[in-house]
Amino acid sequence: MHLDFDEFSLDLKNLYPSIQNVIRMKNKFSNDIKMVKLELTCAKARDDLLNNKLVYVNYSCYEIEEYIAPVNVLICSKCCSIGHFRRQCAEQDETCKSCRQSFKDLKMHHCSSIIKCKHCNGDHLSNFMKCPVVKTFRADLTKKLMNINNNVTSYSSSIAANIANNNTSQHINNDFPRTAAPWAPSSNPMDLKLNTLISGLSQVNETLSKLCVTNQGFQQFMIEKNENDKRINNEIDDLKSINNKMDQDVMVLNEKVNDLDKLMKSNDGIFKQFLFPMLDDILKFIDTKNVGRGGKTVDPDLKSKIDRFRNQMSDAMGGKSFI
Ligand SMILES: [Zn+2]
Ligand SMILES: [Zn+2]
Ligand SMILES: [Zn+2]
Repeated sequence: MHLDFDEFSLDLKNLYPSIQNVIRMKNKFSNDIKMVKLELTCAKARDDLLNNKLVYVNYSCYEIEEYIAPVNVLICSKCCSIGHFRRQCAEQDETCKSCRQSFKDLKMHHCSSIIKCKHCNGDHLSNFMKCPVVKTFRADLTKKLMNINNNVTSYSSSIAANIANNNTSQHINNDFPRTAAPWAPSSNPMDLKLNTLISGLSQVNETLSKLCVTNQGFQQFMIEKNENDKRINNEIDDLKSINNKMDQDVMVLNEKVNDLDKLMKSNDGIFKQFLFPMLDDILKFIDTKNVGRGGKTVDPDLKSKIDRFRNQMSDAMGGKSFI
């Protein structure tokens, strides 16, 4: 259809003053499609347009549908599952995105090149954004995000107007909104909110993965601490056994001291019982020979030595005198 887009935009804005922007939508090849996106500043005007389902501009009728911005779907580059990043992946094995088989080390895998999607078994790669399963996931996620957003606030949003008139509407892609608009940065408040939500979610993801890392660090610390504790316990056990051994050594030493004491006592007995009396007798005999005529001592020096020696032996015997 031939239509002056600027003129059409102006007419629309005149009809509905709360329309702020009229944006021509494009397909993935950046070609214009028969849809425009209307950005409004008033939630009520948006709801009115959506309820009317139709808008008349210059005697032509255009269909109106709610615009739901498609959200980015995460596909893990490790396991090809939907909804998480590689960093958050809990899978052990890597999945080949071509043939969907899993391997410990994907580098060792020689792919059969038989393309099979992990999600739908279709003949496309597992990270193909147009896989029906991925598309359904994206649509569900978009709806969820929309619900969250609607619960937060009912602010103005954008709607899509089908700029083909009724006669040509059968040519319009029925799959809207899932494939109609490529994801593009927008100044639309709803898009901004969705973006904020998505970035919020990815921040949550990031925080969670940081928490995971911290938790891993803590677990590592606990493992090291446990090992340390075990080592300390072993050292304490070693010390205890050394202590026990020392106790035993002390006991052995005590026994030896006792033995020595007994030996000393028995030696003492030998001295006291046999040697001392014998020595005393010998000394007494020498003493008698040291007396000359008239009872005089021949050698006084020898006598004093003998006396001193006998006294010492008497002291050693515990005061018992041999005299
Ligand atoms: Zn994964
Ligand atoms: Zn493969
Ligand atoms: Zn698929």
